[in-house]
Amino acid sequence: MGILLEKKFKKFIPELYKSVIDSAVDVAQQNNIKLYLIGGAVRDLILGNPFKDIDITVEADAINFANVLKSQLNCKIISVQENLRTAKIEFGNGVQIDFASTRQEKYIASGVLPVAFNFGCELEKDVKRRDFTINTLAFLLNGVDKYKLIDYCEGFADLKSGKIKILHSKSFIDDPSRIIRALKFMVRLDFKLDSNTQKLMKDYLSEPLKKIPLERVKNELFQYFEIPKKGLYKYIIDYKVYKLFGNNPITKFEEKDLSNFKNEELQFIYFAFLVLNSEYEEERFNLTSRERKILDEIKQLLANDIQVKDDFEIYKKYNQKQELAIKIYYLITKDETVIRYSNVLSAVKVLINGDDLIKLGLKPSKDFSLIFEAVLKEKLKGKIKSKEEEINFAKKWSR
Ligand code: ATP
Repeated sequence: MGILLEKKFKKFIPELYKSVIDSAVDVAQQNNIKLYLIGGAVRDLILGNPFKDIDITVEADAINFANVLKSQLNCKIISVQENLRTAKIEFGNGVQIDFASTRQEKYIASGVLPVAFNFGCELEKDVKRRDFTINTLAFLLNGVDKYKLIDYCEGFADLKSGKIKILHSKSFIDDPSRIIRALKFMVRLDFKLDSNTQKLMKDYLSEPLKKIPLERVKNELFQYFEIPKKGLYKYIIDYKVYKLFGNNPITKFEEKDLSNFKNEELQFIYFAFLVLNSEYEEERFNLTSRERKILDEIKQLLANDIQVKDDFEIYKKYNQKQELAIKIYYLITKDETVIRYSNVLSAVKVLINGDDLIKLGLKPSKDFSLIFEAVLKEKLKGKIKSKEEEINFAKKWSR
């Protein structure tokens, strides 16, 4: 297998990375430090998938190692993460690589992010903190066993048989976001969930913990919905993954209505469907202000279910709302007034402003907004069009 993997590795790694890895390996060798690929890169290498990027795991302190690299090679440290002892290095040819220290993790309380410790520990301890057996495979980059695959958890057999398997029975309790990761790898790699993993996932979701860190959940959901395959949302519903944060995902929408959205929009649309009725406060997902705004606006639209009577009321309902909020509201409700607004009314704009009214000799007051509203109503009826007509109308209205 060693020779085969060496060949695969040489084919897998892009030219620009080869020279950089070779020089980092030389420095590691002089200092008696072992370097490994672990996780995604090893999976992709073995499966023959294209190269995305690589992190190198250092069986030592990666920040110290980065400093040694800096002193001996043409490279600079561009960032470090002290708490996880990782360092990002940019080499002279522009290639950037993250170097991570081997480490252990301890889950002090259920649902709380783990504490990292024992940086630079033996590889075997490091792999035990990982999510699935297929992500524990390590590929040694230097020394006499260079290009050897190190497999402490039978990951190679699971990779070959296409199986997603957690390492221990408390894995989902330690980190429930692994449930979404399991589906992500299942769908992306076209693998199956191991039966015990599936049972433990079901057990967890039948009695989910209340206070889990939802930021990881959100990140994993976005990564999951990025996969260019169909049926992603259905898996989340079928496996009841929404139970991580709620009980009422939106399921009444038509898949065909989603075909024209861009990928980033789709990711957010599915996320919104899952969390709009969630029992958790939105802020726990660590949403961006735009994301929060869109969710709030959809909720306002859904709550405001009074029949609108005319174009002016339709305009008022949707004007100033984010386009994506309106689109998501439509996907959920199929409210025809959205079509009228998007196709016709949204283009209507009042062209005059306060300065124009002052030029007419009016004093700024709350009447200004009444004038603008009256102008808007006339424009929506199609009775006036140009700015000049608006000014004439305002003149008459204010007499
Ligand atoms: P890809 O980048 O192709 O999505 P990856 O396996 O590299 O896949 P990352 O999210 O970059 O995925 O994680 C890198 C490695 O870190 C994983 O292979 C896994 O070993 C470990 N890991 C990531 N997230 C978790 C987690 N929630 N619990 C345990 N280990 C994890």
